Amino acid sequence: MDVLFYLPYNRIAFLALLEEMVVRRPYIVAGPCSVESREQLNAVVSALSSMPQVSMIRCGVWKPRTRPGGFEGLGQKALEWIKELKAANPSLRFCCEVGRPEHAALILKYGLDAVWIGARTTANPFMVQELTEALRGSKVGIMVKNPPSPDVSLWVGALERCRQVGLTDIMAVHRGFDIYKNDGYRNNPLWEMPIELRRHTPETPILCDPSHIAGRREPIALLAQTAMDLGFEGLMVEVHPHPQQALTDADQQITPDQLAHILESLILRQTDSSVADEELRLLREQIDHIDQQALQLLASRFEVAKQIARVKSQGNLAVYQPKRWETLLRRRLQTAQELGMSSDFTKALFEKIHAESVRIQESELHPEEKDKRN
Ligand code: PEP
Ligand code: MN
Repeated sequence: MDVLFYLPYNRIAFLALLEEMVVRRPYIVAGPCSVESREQLNAVVSALSSMPQVSMIRCGVWKPRTRPGGFEGLGQKALEWIKELKAANPSLRFCCEVGRPEHAALILKYGLDAVWIGARTTANPFMVQELTEALRGSKVGIMVKNPPSPDVSLWVGALERCRQVGLTDIMAVHRGFDIYKNDGYRNNPLWEMPIELRRHTPETPILCDPSHIAGRREPIALLAQTAMDLGFEGLMVEVHPHPQQALTDADQQITPDQLAHILESLILRQTDSSVADEELRLLREQIDHIDQQALQLLASRFEVAKQIARVKSQGNLAVYQPKRWETLLRRRLQTAQELGMSSDFTKALFEKIHAESVRIQESELHPEEKDKRN
């Protein structure tokens, strides 16, 4: 990330979001999870509009609640306030979540600058289609959050639906994934997913939403830094004047001062390493060589697995031997510990290797099924 200079608000108001992103990188979207009152909105807008790094204010107006009965947003009343704030200061930019075509129509009516499609909506192609149709022909910016499950195709599909209706200011937002193991976060970042998204659609800028990944305040700074190190174009952060009193997502919102501190501490590094220096080139050569060796070793291991399949079959032994697997894993974890390697990683690695070995042995025993399994 090599471009870092900020244009003041009044100079960028006429630019499309993606054009603005070129001059303001990282692109920062910040604001409360939900608009809760006029006072809260005024306070947060006044704090954020004085921060040169912040390009757009996010504020939830309709809140998708996992269970019924909680605060569901102020709806149209909040849109009225936003309209008044924009009339008083036309350089302010606002975005909010839309979950239904009626919301999209209201957003256009009240002149918001952008919308985002929430995680749970991205998972539903029918709804994404209806939402994007409702925005057809408009100039509104659109941000698509990843679906809760780690399925890049759903995410890419939603972005494609935005393009199909002629929207041009399109960004993706990485907010983490709800999987069975979230590693202390509300949503597991699974960084490989946005990296995969980038491969599918290199032209789409990606923002990271460290607030919904973390679910609490403490990890936000580090997650934001990781996003920068991975070349994300910006951040979407939840900011509230009094986070503890927030009606939604109280544990993860931060104050404007805390946001300012995080942004000032971000280290922005060069993400294009094609001009890498000699030392980096040599180290990468080593990595390539080691990877080749690792693959060759794995291939030999799988050859041995085939012979094992034959011996087991002759001895009428089942392919999966729980005691052997338990001993093997214990020993590998012991070795990994001695080598200073992470036990979580080692366990995940050997689970994969073992699963592949079982698959290969099964194919040896039932060659007629081989094609179906591969
Ligand atoms: C939000 O941004 O407040 C929100 C509801 O996010 P998500 O769709 O990522 O859960
Ligand atoms: Mn939220």
